[in-house]
Amino acid sequence: MPTQVGLISLGCAKNLIDSEIMIGHLQQEGMTMTKEEDRDLADVLIVNTCSFIDVAKEESIETIIQAVNARHEDPAREKQKIIVAGCLSQRFNVSKNEDDRLPGLLPEVDAFIGLDQVNQVAPIIRKVINRASGEESIDTVTAKPQYIPDHDTPRHRLTPSHMAYVKIAEGCNHTCSFCIIPKIRGQHRSRTQESIVREAKALIASGVKELNLISQDTTYFGMDKWEGRGKRAKPTSGVDSERGESLASLLKELNSIEGEFWIRLLYTHPAHWSDELIKTIAECDKVAKYVDIPLQHISDHMLSVMRRKTDGDYIRNLLRRMKAGIPNLAIRTTFIVGFPGETEDDFEELLEFIREFRFERAGIFTYSKEEGTHANKLDGHIHHMTKQSRMRRATSLIDEVAKQVNEEQVGRKMRVLVEEGGIARGEWDAPDIDGRVFVPDEAKIGDFYDAEITDWRGYDLVSK
Ligand code: SF4
Repeated sequence: MPTQVGLISLGCAKNLIDSEIMIGHLQQEGMTMTKEEDRDLADVLIVNTCSFIDVAKEESIETIIQAVNARHEDPAREKQKIIVAGCLSQRFNVSKNEDDRLPGLLPEVDAFIGLDQVNQVAPIIRKVINRASGEESIDTVTAKPQYIPDHDTPRHRLTPSHMAYVKIAEGCNHTCSFCIIPKIRGQHRSRTQESIVREAKALIASGVKELNLISQDTTYFGMDKWEGRGKRAKPTSGVDSERGESLASLLKELNSIEGEFWIRLLYTHPAHWSDELIKTIAECDKVAKYVDIPLQHISDHMLSVMRRKTDGDYIRNLLRRMKAGIPNLAIRTTFIVGFPGETEDDFEELLEFIREFRFERAGIFTYSKEEGTHANKLDGHIHHMTKQSRMRRATSLIDEVAKQVNEEQVGRKMRVLVEEGGIARGEWDAPDIDGRVFVPDEAKIGDFYDAEITDWRGYDLVSK
């Protein structure tokens, strides 16, 4: 009887791809995956964790504890082994502080793996199955991850058959003062353009209608490999195909693949935008006119302490160039409020900026204190009541804008991708992030549908 493995995937789309790679690898090694409802029957349960901010850590730890308790309480699960994977184990198991390491804190867990072990889980599972209870947990996490998947990496997609995430790079070379990700996921490493194009062709041939390009910083794609005198990338280099492979050259190649599909760009960094990238997006008909560009703030004071390598004038100018250069563009962004040292003036400047630029899609987060980050050590941490109040004020403003944007869509015709019976997403709606478009039930799931917007409700649109 093959080993049965259950998997719980937490966190973002980047973690989801790691889960897909683990499953692909385990299936290749002859193991089978249990359905969600049959997890109690699994010989081994993998919890792929997230560790971005406090709430994500809490959710990960709660999920692990629930699995441990279920094993204790349910006789059918008595022999089940538990493996913790992902950002939580990668972050804490290589910590210099022994007290932070998870094997000491969660001794009931049978094994811990990190980001470099996603395609090496099968031998770890074999070891874990033979591990006697009471033995020390197996810890395989290695520091400074290097792994990056390729087009032929076995992978079992967990997304609906008509859409896929494509990880074009891993890691991040930025040093944003609030972010722990570079310490968890390592330095930026790009895949080759050829490998991504081969993967994209296979996905499209299998019926995928939407490729969502992801990484920690998609605009930095290729730059880590730029070589030669004057060609090496700097922390603020713009996308430039003259210097080597770049996001622009990749988009052009993907756009030339035959078929009817969208390419969606997620997680871009403002510091690397260039006129070449703007022109490429405008010219490539398959690239969705939707750009995800987390800006985090607009006041020079905040951008400087956040170490965002850009200032307010640069960002305003960039947004104007993007809007002028790419017709019908929707910009999605996120802001952090309540960052250490944020004054009422800084916050008012942010509100004014949101009023002026009327982002089609936006999200507000309150600053989360993260151990191991530079911001954690800054003076001027903001009282949580002030953070909450700023969050409410900013959210009410972006909701007001979202309402106006939706009102403006009534009467428009747009192509949408049908996700499930009666529910679709437009070009301006990223999966699991943005709103929906309600379409007639007859619209075929997994196909494009020509919608005519007749009404709107909250963040959603209604079509006939
Ligand atoms: S760009 Fe900044 S916020 Fe984004 S992953 Fe890198 S360090 Fe974190």
